[in-house]
Amino acid sequence: MSVADKVCLNHTDREAAFLCLSCRKPVCDECTIALDGSHFCSTKCAEGHARTNANMEVYRGQQKGGFISLIIKLAIIGVILYFGWQYKEQIMNMVNKA
Ligand SMILES: [Zn+2]
Ligand SMILES: [Zn+2]
Repeated sequence: MSVADKVCLNHTDREAAFLCLSCRKPVCDECTIALDGSHFCSTKCAEGHARTNANMEVYRGQQKGGFISLIIKLAIIGVILYFGWQYKEQIMNMVNKA
């Protein structure tokens, strides 16, 4: 997307150098706030974007953790069922012998 035909949000006499990654507003070199290789019109937009990324990371982490805990739960249930079944067989044998 070209910004050559746009002017800065704060300086109407200056050409825009970047578009804010968050709100897509054009800003000049002086007004640009660079963060992690991205460009923003204000610290509010930069912080908002960083927060979104952080939330995404947390969300991914939760998904991953949730999946692993689900596997662990299934494994525990499987072990309980397995040993429960074994125990049941022993009880049945004892009852039959008595
Ligand atoms: Zn912005
Ligand atoms: Zn400017």
